[in-house]
Amino acid sequence: MSNWGPSSALKHFKVGEIIFSEGDPGDAAYIIESGRVEVAVSVDGQPFPLRILTSGDVLGEMAVMDTAPRSASAKAIEETVCVAISSRQISERIQGADPIVQLLVTTLLHRIRSTPQVTLSGHPKVATGMQQTSSDNDEVLDKMRLESELRAALDNRELHPHYQPLVDIQTRRILGFEALIRWNSDTHGHVSPGEFTSIAEETSLIIPIGQQTLQQACRDLAQFQTSCPDRPLFMSINVAPRQLAEKTFLSELQILVRQYELKSSQVKLEVTERVFMEDPVALENLKNCRQAGFHIALDDFGTGFSSLNYLTRFEVDGFKIDRAFVQELLTNSRSQVLLESMLKMAHGLGMQTVVEGVETEEQLQALQQSGCDIGQGYLFGKPLPFKAVQQLLEKAYKPSNS
Ligand code: C2E
Ligand code: CA
Ligand code: CA
Repeated sequence: MSNWGPSSALKHFKVGEIIFSEGDPGDAAYIIESGRVEVAVSVDGQPFPLRILTSGDVLGEMAVMDTAPRSASAKAIEETVCVAISSRQISERIQGADPIVQLLVTTLLHRIRSTPQVTLSGHPKVATGMQQTSSDNDEVLDKMRLESELRAALDNRELHPHYQPLVDIQTRRILGFEALIRWNSDTHGHVSPGEFTSIAEETSLIIPIGQQTLQQACRDLAQFQTSCPDRPLFMSINVAPRQLAEKTFLSELQILVRQYELKSSQVKLEVTERVFMEDPVALENLKNCRQAGFHIALDDFGTGFSSLNYLTRFEVDGFKIDRAFVQELLTNSRSQVLLESMLKMAHGLGMQTVVEGVETEEQLQALQQSGCDIGQGYLFGKPLPFKAVQQLLEKAYKPSNS
């Protein structure tokens, strides 16, 4: 059909090339990036053009939304480049939507499909840019584009974790690392992980991304460990509620730990309090992970919305206090009181504390006095690629230094 590989989000169509035909199953929708596409229906065996779509328009979305066969054909009338949006991407969005929105979408689709599109007696109108999008829609389309490209990036193994040191706050000795995923996209350059992980977490895309990150992080931890055989290092890995809701999460993690000859206590699962508000299966799985010896750390502690009530019912091993508190530690006495209270509470519950975002010697000194256990931040090291971490460890853990 076209000249692109299976793991590219961008699809190129030559002049005259059929993008899809009437009656085809709806396997993808498309956002036109450049070029022009004619949409036509056949009436008495003759094609009747319905409209011409151009850059920024969406086509083929109906058959993907209600899984009915294509009700029209689409043909490139210029060299055309589209971003393909898979049917799975769209159906997950619809299934995850408010039930009222789902009903409205279904009703609307039904109405559109039952309305004749061409008046046989007259000439069908050919409209240009009928689906031209508003700026609100542009944002949605950007998100869908990024999601498609992220899927392709995953297939092409363009996603890699970097590792940021976590250090003993008193001695600055490296105790472990946090795996932080990175994506260097051909089209967008460096994409912020905050942005693309939140898109991935909205759909099941986070599951394969998470599996890949867990696998790479365990494999790399085993390598790092060979550079300092005298003491165990740990790896902190961010885990989204959707990943934990997978029945096989724990068994897959256990396979990895065995494969790379690690102890389960060397793997810390970083979760946010969202996990306490979502799927009960995810929470049950988290409990089982803890029972199996994996450490659980509550990430971004102090920034969420929930009460602390969940801590009476669910035990975790540590808190990661959000960097917002450290940023203002020396300038805002309220931040200082809050941080110290959080540290006291954590220690009262027998938990370890990690303070994120330590950037200056002054902040470090204040934290050393406040009794925090572990520090993470640019002062100790930025997230680094695998090779740089290995060099760092080899330098830091030469037998003479240990
Ligand atoms: P997070 O889990 O809270 O990660 C800590 C973020 O703080 C990282 O941002 C890290 O680079 C940044 N950071 C560390 N030290 C400092 C500092 O001293 N100053 C400042 N200004 N920033 C510091 P990053 O790498 O951009 O990641 C952003 C978020 O993306 C993460 O926040 C996490 O929520 C998410 N993320 C990253 N990797 C993964 C992943 O593998 N899976 C999932 N589900 N989410 C991930
Ligand atoms: Ca984290
Ligand atoms: Ca955090």
